[in-house]
Formats: sequence, C-alpha cells, structure tokens
Amino acid sequence: MLEMRRIPPCPICGKPAEVHWRPFCSRRCADVDLGRWFAGVYRVPTDETPEMPEAEWTETPDAARRMARDHGPR
Ligand SMILES: [Zn+2]
Repeated sequence: MLEMRRIPPCPICGKPAEVHWRPFCSRRCADVDLGRWFAGVYRVPTDETPEMPEAEWTETPDAARRMARDHGPR
C-alpha cells in the first residue's frame, strides 16, 4: 500500500526521491541535509529543543537517523 504513495521530489536537488532515502534521492543528498541539520543543532549549546517542527522530525528517514548515530557528536 505504501508503494502507492507518491514521494515528493528530493528537497536537496529536486530529483525524484528514492523510497530507501526518502525524502531524498540518494545518500549524498541525505548526507547534505543531515550536515545542515547537525550544523544547526550543534551550534546550540543549550538543551533547548532546536527550531524544528515535529512534522519534520517524523519525516526524517530511518537511514538518516542511522547515520546520525554512526556519525555521532564528536
Ligand atoms: Zn537529491
């Protein structure tokens, strides 16, 4: 059933997104977005929640979360 859903284009480059990298088209674009995300998060020295709507968080692909864990804060 999920296959029937239309995936919006990659927000980074605009190419058709891959299911695996949703909402991105490739690992590279997911990485680019993740990099921006981290840059924003780690710039904030407080515990306060970054300015990120919940809706966006729920749309974070599992792959990105996995990468977030792999990269980890240095
Ligand atoms: Zn892309």
